[in-house]
Amino acid sequence: MEDQKKQYWYIFYDDKLLLQKRGEGFAIPFEEEAPLPVARMLPVTMPDGTEAMAASLDAPLDETEQFRLVGLRASFDCLERSFYDQAGKAYELLYWDKHSRYCPVCGTPTIQQGPIMKKCPKCGNEIFPSVSPAILVLIRKENSVLLVHARNFKGSFHGLVAGFLETGETLEECVRREVREETGLTIRNITYFGNQPWPYPSNLMVGFMADYAGGKIKLQEEELSTAAFFTRDHLPELPQKLSLARRMIDAWLEETDPNKP
Ligand SMILES: [Zn+2]
Repeated sequence: MEDQKKQYWYIFYDDKLLLQKRGEGFAIPFEEEAPLPVARMLPVTMPDGTEAMAASLDAPLDETEQFRLVGLRASFDCLERSFYDQAGKAYELLYWDKHSRYCPVCGTPTIQQGPIMKKCPKCGNEIFPSVSPAILVLIRKENSVLLVHARNFKGSFHGLVAGFLETGETLEECVRREVREETGLTIRNITYFGNQPWPYPSNLMVGFMADYAGGKIKLQEEELSTAAFFTRDHLPELPQKLSLARRMIDAWLEETDPNKP
């Protein structure tokens, strides 16, 4: 039998991540074998080449002296950033695994053919994990920034206009459309800011900066409960540090800092 190596175990029950208690903090289990009985295991190669294991429990776990289940988003507050990012990738693969048990073309049970590929034995359809791109846009107007509260935000914070890319659309067309639909405004000078995998459950957030061009705010009420321009001295509660939206707002704050030489 081959020698087993120690590896990180990203174990989930639903969207909750298993953390091992270590002193005052938490860690991802690092073992040769699963530290608890798991229902499903998938090897994962992380973007930096690290080999890890994604696994799922088939029943919830009560907190023990050694382990605790924590929501993936909340795990950001108790893990180093690289472990949080890797947990996100493991979660996306488990989500894909769970949602690709049957061929979407003919309904036959699929067969795993590689770490990120399944195939239908009947019709040959191949299934890979899919990512849904979504845009975020920060709109500047003189010395203020447009912040919105969307009805689906978990919490009272204000964030950026966001929305899913539609088929046949460029990212910039998506940015213009979302801003027009959600706020009634037109924008110009759309520039790329950055992007971030967003494993809730399987998105890529792509951030853009833009300038206000015209129009009066007219809310799309099913999506947004508020939208307004805020100056740096009167900002509402902002999104959490883990989000690209927050990184973009922080960049805008930096850019408009009056104390900056
Ligand atoms: Zn099929």
